[in-house]
Amino acid sequence: MSSYDRRHVYIDGGWRASAGEVIEVDSAITGEIIGTIPDGTVDDVAAAVAAARAAFPGWSQTPIDVRLDFLARLSKKLDERADELTQLITTEVGTPLRVSTAVQVGQPRRVLDSYRELMADFPLEEQIGDSLVLREPIGVVAAITAWNFPLQQVIGKVGGALATGCTVVLKPSEVAPLSAFLVADMIDEIGLPPGVFNLVSGTGAVVGEALVAHPGVDMITFTGSTAAGRRIGEVAARTVKRVALELGGKSANVILDDADLARAVKVGVANCFTNTGQVCTAWTRMVVPRERLAEVDDLVRARLATYTLGDPLDPATTMGPLATSVQRQKVWDYVNLGISEGASLIYGGTQPPTGVPPGYFVTPTAFSNVRHDMRIAREEIFGPVLSILPYDTEDEAVAVANDSQYGLAGAVWSADHDRALRVAKRLRTGAVDINGSFFNMLAPFGGYKQSGNGRELGHHGLAEFYELKAVQQAPAGS
Ligand code: NAD
Repeated sequence: MSSYDRRHVYIDGGWRASAGEVIEVDSAITGEIIGTIPDGTVDDVAAAVAAARAAFPGWSQTPIDVRLDFLARLSKKLDERADELTQLITTEVGTPLRVSTAVQVGQPRRVLDSYRELMADFPLEEQIGDSLVLREPIGVVAAITAWNFPLQQVIGKVGGALATGCTVVLKPSEVAPLSAFLVADMIDEIGLPPGVFNLVSGTGAVVGEALVAHPGVDMITFTGSTAAGRRIGEVAARTVKRVALELGGKSANVILDDADLARAVKVGVANCFTNTGQVCTAWTRMVVPRERLAEVDDLVRARLATYTLGDPLDPATTMGPLATSVQRQKVWDYVNLGISEGASLIYGGTQPPTGVPPGYFVTPTAFSNVRHDMRIAREEIFGPVLSILPYDTEDEAVAVANDSQYGLAGAVWSADHDRALRVAKRLRTGAVDINGSFFNMLAPFGGYKQSGNGRELGHHGLAEFYELKAVQQAPAGS
């Protein structure tokens, strides 16, 4: 892996030195430093917002087909550099190569293409009685992203903002920022007008907060923790910005008593442990009929034994490291907590795996007989840890699933589709998968409760970047 030594922020169509220090970026696989990014400053934010404001009138008035042509060129660039992006994100985040190729890099490009298709005939005008209702781009959007799917979040937000005629200041996660710099390089190469896209890297406390507080920013689109989302909501309220928040989760996989248990557990485990559990929608609570608990425990153990831990750049690896040492310590702390809370440890534990590179590896872990009031069942761990919670009745299963501050995703399994749908409708979450369906990038993505507000993806996601204007039209001469 070559070094990515980035020292400049991207403002007003060019790379400029930042007055700040640098932040080192390390490899999840080895812990070695693989690059640097500028630790951006409040002045960088001010310059980037000014550039984005200046560019907004022109970009918002640019014909849609011209805007979409830029996105088509960006999509092509993403494809051309897909291998490099895949290697880079695999190294920064630890996602196994196969998942990286399809989800970390392939999916963002498909999302970008879906925006182009949707925008081609997006309804921007609607007649309601005497009023002509117009959708107009909201203005300057600050996009702040997390590290677990870095390119997906950057493209989901930047692509949506640019497609709808907004201008952007991006602050990528300081943990996995390097793919965002490659995106900025690509945007530079396609010749997007100066100021339409700007990138200021740095910490949440400095660059993030400065963007959220800035009166020249009209909207914050944020993906990250619920703690940071709360803070962003508070700060943004002072300037009454629109805030779209994609936050944490503790999703329930509700397996009803007539479900195909082997399949429900197999898919449920795969979902929970993808990307070493660093997925906001991960089904980390498996809610199962008490009379089948022992069977479920055996199935879970058997599935976890199939994982090959190791270097995620090796195609044979099915589970890589966590992204950071902080994340690894957090996982170990939660595993110890689960043991002290009295849950039954049925697989894994805090013993580090052997025969793996020196990065941030942990052993996949499962607890059974977990009660819904235990902290391991309530708090987002963001690592490869599954909690299995038994229930006695369907009503209790729904109550357990809904007993969470979060409401991002979930699943229901049943041989009876109507029954599964009835249960799905009772779950207070932004998404539910019945019997292991596939991710639909045209459907709205987002959470109920403290998993966030606003939606991303599809036409519902694009609609977030618009203001609505009602133009009442009296007949001439009246
Ligand atoms: P985080 O909240 O620590 O950081 C996310 C981003 O916010 C980073 O760019 C960070 O620098 C910035 N930030 C932090 N504090 C800020 C502040 N006060 N003001 C402005 N910006 C600030 O989250 P993380 O550790 O990078 O990501 C993990 C979290 O993200 C998990 O909780 C996960 O569930 C969540 N997540 C949610 C989704 C979703 O779509 N709902 C997707 C992926 C990850």
